[in-house]
Amino acid sequence: MTPAGNIALETLEREALVCTKCPLSEGRTQVVFGTGDPHASLMFVGEAPGKHEDLQGIPFVGAAGNLLPRLIEEIGLTRDAVYIANVLKCRPPGNRDPEPNEIATCRPYLEGQIAAIDPAVIVSLGNFATRLLLDTREGISRLRGEEHKLGARVLVPTYHPSAVLRGRGEALAQMRADFVVAKRALQRVT
Ligand code: SF4
Repeated sequence: MTPAGNIALETLEREALVCTKCPLSEGRTQVVFGTGDPHASLMFVGEAPGKHEDLQGIPFVGAAGNLLPRLIEEIGLTRDAVYIANVLKCRPPGNRDPEPNEIATCRPYLEGQIAAIDPAVIVSLGNFATRLLLDTREGISRLRGEEHKLGARVLVPTYHPSAVLRGRGEALAQMRADFVVAKRALQRVT
């Protein structure tokens, strides 16, 4: 990240932390902007904060949150060495799916984060992040398992950790394989 990128990310975070642009601001405890290395070459994009994230202000904590750092460690990294964010920065009530108007209103924050951090590889976690970033209606099970081009970056779609925890062992094995795809892409392009 350039010094300008650093300033851009800090400005964006300050703006997001007091954002009231969509109705999700009314029910949140706090905004979950994103955490990790602002210079990271690898970035993860999930869906939206859940209960624990909303309380702690950190993405991917709690049961589903534990799986992500575990898989990151399996490819030889730590959550501090990557950047983790969500499509939505505020928790939808009862963890319901994000609505199209909320995604449209919040997306400039994610786009700003990607522009400022400038990661070489992005892993999208689940349908919402993948569909938004790839501008497609295709489902995650068809898109996962390979690299996609995202401008000059590589996008590797995989399942959302919550879906993997609810599902069968096969989904976890596929997610592990997707992380290896991301690691190989990272080694090639950085
Ligand atoms: S979800 Fe995004 S757009 Fe809506 S209030 Fe939170 S930060 Fe603002």
